[in-house]
Amino acid sequence: MRDLREIISRQLLPRVTRPSQYIGLETNARCNDPAAAEVTVALAFPDAYTIGISHLGSQILYHLLNDLPGVACDRTYCPLPDAEDIMRHERIPLFGWESRLAIADFDVLGFSLSYEMQVTNVLTILDLAGIPLRSCDRTDDDPIVIAGDTLADSPEPLADFIDIFLVGDGEAPLSELVELVRQSKRRGASREELLLAAAWRIPSAYVPRFYQPQYDDGRFAGLQRLRDDVPEAIDHARLPGLDHSPAITRPLVPLAEAVHERVVIEIMRGCPNACRFCQAGFTRLPVRIRSVDEIVRIARESVAATGFREISLLSLSTSDYPHLDELIDRLTAEFASQHVSISLPSLRVDSQLQQLPKLTSTVRKGGLTIAAEAGSERLRRAIGKGITEADMLAGVRAAYEAGWRRVKVYFMAGLPGETDEDIEAIFDLCLRLSDTRRDVDGQRGAISASVSWFVPKPHTPMQWSPMRDADYFWSVRTRLRDRARRSPVQFKFHRIEQSLLEATLCRGDRRMGDVIEAAWRNGARLDGWTEHFNNDAWMTAFAQADLDPADYRREISTNAPTPWSHIHCPRRCDFLLAEYERMQQALTD
Ligand code: SF4
Repeated sequence: MRDLREIISRQLLPRVTRPSQYIGLETNARCNDPAAAEVTVALAFPDAYTIGISHLGSQILYHLLNDLPGVACDRTYCPLPDAEDIMRHERIPLFGWESRLAIADFDVLGFSLSYEMQVTNVLTILDLAGIPLRSCDRTDDDPIVIAGDTLADSPEPLADFIDIFLVGDGEAPLSELVELVRQSKRRGASREELLLAAAWRIPSAYVPRFYQPQYDDGRFAGLQRLRDDVPEAIDHARLPGLDHSPAITRPLVPLAEAVHERVVIEIMRGCPNACRFCQAGFTRLPVRIRSVDEIVRIARESVAATGFREISLLSLSTSDYPHLDELIDRLTAEFASQHVSISLPSLRVDSQLQQLPKLTSTVRKGGLTIAAEAGSERLRRAIGKGITEADMLAGVRAAYEAGWRRVKVYFMAGLPGETDEDIEAIFDLCLRLSDTRRDVDGQRGAISASVSWFVPKPHTPMQWSPMRDADYFWSVRTRLRDRARRSPVQFKFHRIEQSLLEATLCRGDRRMGDVIEAAWRNGARLDGWTEHFNNDAWMTAFAQADLDPADYRREISTNAPTPWSHIHCPRRCDFLLAEYERMQQALTD
């Protein structure tokens, strides 16, 4: 394996901004010696270090792999544009953050794909590593390129670039795959033999090269198997319980600025609420919880191993954790005297939240976040968001009384059946939330309202819904901004072009691969970052591929196959369809 230590130290680090993000000697870093390992794995997070180092899922897999005998797992991230330029100019290949070995020399390169806007970063990483972009161009000398996480649930847009997708919970299938790689190396098996073995033996492994997409009059018409011995459908892997996932008690401590600098503990996987627009709510089932004893143990050991002064209790919906009151009490008793605070990143406003601010002084009062999603009761009912305005007003009032001051409310606009009145209701709800503070201390509360644009996601009951067009979103933006003038409400809006592209990518078929590569060659980089997003590069790419992005945002017939139909998530199509019909019924009630 090529050791790049010298060249990185001499030619890269002195010339990049914030070189500490490329150093990789974080507290609790623990890559085993690749030279002594039978199987080497590089885990790539396809975004900048500042985001990737905070990704809990990657850390779970990193620890899991380094715990396997004979396995060495290193990490890599997407270099920022200044580093990319230098690496290209100086011909420095992408490297493992700890081993400083060339990524192309590892046996496996694994991507964690959590967000559509990271797809061009996958190509940047492959190209900087010197690995052919397309799976069909790779040889036995190249790493096996695998990918998991959210985008693996609708994998076709990246199917040309990934050798194996692992769908669902990654822990068990990844261990199985690494074992397959070990056996294949011992036997001297070819790349093709290994890919076939993965497709045969791992029910959640999707190997795109064994499937051919069909099109009818320009529309996706299904996937055809190219071999009879690969499965027709791919199972979503499900971990039986969180005790089967490694408890991270020695998390990495970032060397450079990171989005989260705190202990993060996954207290629950899955969400019981099933909001009809939410992909995670339908794909991460069933709900699995960690015990209070185990969480307290992890918190104790993690704080001791890192020096962090904040513990974040992570789940899709933390207030649905069934023992939350007891957990907060136990953590408060343990950490209050150490000045370690507790943050709850995802709260649901209901009767439980009304109690929560009183429970403890250890909970951070930085800000209260409410996912209202829609302004009107009618739309909230239709999308399955089971909170009422009365819940929200009572919860926010209780929070103000307990000393919380900042209130942030999340909304989506562009929902099916949405009218002008529903948009007005967004502003009116914000005003009423602000007014609840008057009863507490006579002042109006400042409300920060974040508005995103509804993206109909695969594997949800709303997957068949169309997405509204840019003109509609611009009109909503203008209307809300005008209404908020000289009010205590401040709106922030997601960038419209990014949301439209996100929808096109998540609903895309395999033809999207040509678009992604063309956009990347046109200069698209770090598309999730507003300051880097280059919409022109994408629009040119769609024209080059002779595809209309709007075609992917239209209503989908409930009888038509979708590019993700072969991925069998916990909630099957008939269940989603029944929910879709309930939503439509609710809109007409
Ligand atoms: S509560 Fe949140 S995570 Fe759960 S289904 Fe609803 S939107 Fe998704």
